[in-house]
Amino acid sequence: MIRSRSIRAPLALLAALASACAGGSDAPVADLVLTNGKVVTVDDARPEAEAIAVAGDRIVAVGTVAEIEAYIGESTTVIDLGGKLAIPGFIEGHGHFMGLGRAKMILDLTRARSWEEIVAMVAEAAKAAGPGEWILGRGWHQEKWDHVPADAVDGVPVHRSLSAVSPNNPVYLMHASGHAAFANAKALELAGITRATRDPAGGTIVRDARGEPTGLLREKAQGLVDAAIAEAESRSTEEATAQMRRMVELAGEDLLSKGVTSFHDAGTSFATVDFYERLAQEGALPVRLYVMVRASNDELAEKLPRYRKIGVGGGYLTVRSIKRQIDGALGPHGAWLLEPYADLPTTSGLALEPPEDIARTAELAMQHGYQLNTHAIGDRANREVLDIYERLLRSAPKGADPRWRIEHAQHVDPADVARFAELGVIASMQGIHATSDGPWVAKRLGEERARKTSYLWRAFTDAGVVVTNGTDVPVEDVDPIASYYATVSRRLNDGSVFLPEQRLSRLEALKTYTINNAYAAFEEEEKGSLTPGKLADIVVLSKDILTVPEEEIPTARVIYTIIGGKVKYRAEEAEP
Ligand SMILES: [Zn+2]
Repeated sequence: MIRSRSIRAPLALLAALASACAGGSDAPVADLVLTNGKVVTVDDARPEAEAIAVAGDRIVAVGTVAEIEAYIGESTTVIDLGGKLAIPGFIEGHGHFMGLGRAKMILDLTRARSWEEIVAMVAEAAKAAGPGEWILGRGWHQEKWDHVPADAVDGVPVHRSLSAVSPNNPVYLMHASGHAAFANAKALELAGITRATRDPAGGTIVRDARGEPTGLLREKAQGLVDAAIAEAESRSTEEATAQMRRMVELAGEDLLSKGVTSFHDAGTSFATVDFYERLAQEGALPVRLYVMVRASNDELAEKLPRYRKIGVGGGYLTVRSIKRQIDGALGPHGAWLLEPYADLPTTSGLALEPPEDIARTAELAMQHGYQLNTHAIGDRANREVLDIYERLLRSAPKGADPRWRIEHAQHVDPADVARFAELGVIASMQGIHATSDGPWVAKRLGEERARKTSYLWRAFTDAGVVVTNGTDVPVEDVDPIASYYATVSRRLNDGSVFLPEQRLSRLEALKTYTINNAYAAFEEEEKGSLTPGKLADIVVLSKDILTVPEEEIPTARVIYTIIGGKVKYRAEEAEP
């Protein structure tokens, strides 16, 4: 419950006097007070409290209800937490901010249980869409539906109902398999598909008994609509910018509703950094961004000196790191391994970007004072990156604080774990990847190697390596609670526990999502714990994820998301 205090003048005077006494001679009147809660600060100096006082965008005090009462004045907004848990705002340690926004612009049809449900989703999207804007979706599968409409052709509906809810916006919905797609009347028209259109080679325009296209396009017939979409996307700069702003809004809504207050954006062009900077100056960035730039070495050499920025727009945009990628992913046998794949012994994977090229980036990073963050999944990839880092880090100038990172650090030879610690290299990991990949990792690596080298959260933590947490959104949902749950439980959908010896404790896992991510961005003095003087980035949850029975953790919801002392998200249940 939020309430604004309106105290009559004499009382206000008393309150001011009381605050001057109780809170010390210069206790300021707080703009915001959260009280009557369980505050877990992630600050070892005072791990737990009941209330927080905020003035401007900073925390001014953390203490008992009585201690913080002293900061409440006439103008203070007071939120009664009703015993709920307040923690530092979650920091997403590795995600793709614009990718999240883009994914939100495409309808996710994977969970639809009927055609009618899909039509309703499109109707909703059509209401929000601009004139003529394409409505895209993916992931539908008729086998997942509980029934198919009576007028279906080949077991798939016809476009009539879809065209009725979106007469002016073209709609294009890709099948889960990728081998077919569904278009409405407007999309067929823009693609020039009529009853007279011949099937292209290798594709089928599915038709009804009268010869009219039903909307379903199989295989190469999809290319006719793809061409129309490509045409639509070659639009003006203003339109492109408007669309990017929409992506930012959509990403922001998702992040704020899930308690994310800062976001490490893993691989951004300089042009997008320019866009972010405009938004930061306008106050239009929904969460704080820590950006890793991605470009060729030539472009880096030219632009790095001008692009190092810290805390633009009131702490909303920082650029001081570079993203590289040495290998691919384990699923498609793209991770670079020390030994061949167990299920594909002809390969050990390979380098995606040449190590010499990454070594050149490392020199540029050191020269210009940038952090270097390199994606490495396989144990060979991790070793190669450590080798490159070691050469540069050993010769770093005295007093340098490089904090270079390996992104994912997913499969690491046990002999290399200590090297992370020695070199001060951060393991930038994603808790949710362990449980998403769990069902098939042993197939790729064999049981023994999977156990020894994979998702070594406990081994890294015990070795003194800073381990961060995140989701690699849009690869995974950005929900920090789901990734936190995976980090502490390692529980798979089938109920089994994947490599339980590598689990972290709940407090350790909370640190990976807060103070460790802050450290990994050189921001541990600014955020990552609820400490007086730091930014007031705070999340309130419906359940105490540090103490509830483990299986209840995923059901915790975000009640408030607060950034810089401003309530940016409030769940419906928070309203009085
Ligand atoms: Zn990524």
